Amino acid sequence: MSDQKIDEILACPACAERPKLIRNDSCYTCSKCKREYPIAENGIAKLLVDPEHES
Ligand SMILES: [Zn+2]
Repeated sequence: MSDQKIDEILACPACAERPKLIRNDSCYTCSKCKREYPIAENGIAKLLVDPEHES
């Protein structure tokens, strides 16, 4: 599976609409809520919602 394919299936777990994530150099950013999800060394994004970042 190519990186392109992975990008296509990633969606923000925090948004009900499951918007696509925009890949940056070091993380993915949700196009809707602007949450950032770090990319691990293996290239897989950590799509975890940190409740401490809620406000
Ligand atoms: Zn989001």
